[in-house]
Amino acid sequence: MTGPDAPLVTGPAVEPAFRATWGAASDVGSVRTLNEDAYLARYPVFVVADGMGGHEAGERASAEAVAALARLADRTDVTARAVQECLEEAQHRVRGIPTSPGRGAGTTVSGVVVVTEGGVPYWLVVNVGDSRTYRLAGGVLEQVSVDHSEVQEMVEAGALTVAEAGRHPRRHVVTRALGAGEEPDPDFWLLPVAQHDRVLLCTDGLTGEVPDDAIAAILLAQPAPQLAADLLVEAALVAGGRDNVTVVVVDAHDVGGTADEETTAPRGRHPDGAGDGCDNEDTVPRARPREQGGL
Ligand code: MG
Repeated sequence: MTGPDAPLVTGPAVEPAFRATWGAASDVGSVRTLNEDAYLARYPVFVVADGMGGHEAGERASAEAVAALARLADRTDVTARAVQECLEEAQHRVRGIPTSPGRGAGTTVSGVVVVTEGGVPYWLVVNVGDSRTYRLAGGVLEQVSVDHSEVQEMVEAGALTVAEAGRHPRRHVVTRALGAGEEPDPDFWLLPVAQHDRVLLCTDGLTGEVPDDAIAAILLAQPAPQLAADLLVEAALVAGGRDNVTVVVVDAHDVGGTADEETTAPRGRHPDGAGDGCDNEDTVPRARPREQGGL
C-alpha cells in the first residue's frame, strides 16, 4: 500500500547530522474515491498533508504544499527561515488553485525538517491544521503538534474530554489551513534530535481510527520504519478506513553531541469565526466571516 496515491521519494541522506531511516505509506481508505493526502519523505524533509476543497482541489492542494517543501530535499543547510519561505510559497500555490464558487482549496501540513543549529541537529516541527506529529522517545509516545481544530479548542476550554472530541460531529473542522487567509500561520517547535528518537507524522485518517495507545504499541513492536508505517495504515483500514490515511515514520540513529537545549513553545493561536456543521470524515475548514475572506 506504499505510495500509489501519493508521492514517495526516498534516497540517501546527504551528509546528514545523524543517520535517518524512514518509511511511508498512504491509502485512499475504504470509503473515498480520491486520496487527497500527500507526503514527502526525503531527508531532511518529512511531511504529510491532508487536502480539502472538493472535487480535485484538495488533492492538488496537498500536492502543491508537498512540492513547495520538496525544494528543501537533499540539503544540509536548511534553516527555519527557509522552511517558512517554502510555506509561503505553498500558501501562494494553494491559493491559486481554481475551485467551485464558495469553496477554497486548503491543506494541512505536519511534519519535521531536520535543521542544524550550532552543530546540533534538531527536529523543526511544523504544523498547520489537524494532521499530527508525534515523537516516540524512551518508550513513550507524545503528540508534539497541537491540532488546529474546533474540538481541540473545546478540549482546552474544558468543554470536551479528549475521548469526546474523537466522537464529536465537528471533529473534522480545522481552524487553520494552508491556503486560508493571506499568510501561512504554522506552529513551530524545535526539538533536539536524540538517539533512538522515532517521529511519526500522520493525517487524521490514522488518528480518527486508531487510538494513541494502539499507535504506540505498533511503533514499539515494529523496529523497521517502513513496516511500522504499513502496519499503522493497515490498522486504520481495519478500524474502518473512513478517510484517507497517510503515515511517515522517521528514526534517528548515530546521533552525536549532547543536545539538551530547552524545547521551544508553539506560537500563539488565533481562533476565529464559526462555521457549519460537519459529520463526515473529511477535513473541512471552519468558515470565516465573509469580510475576512479565507476558505
Ligand atoms: Mg483527513
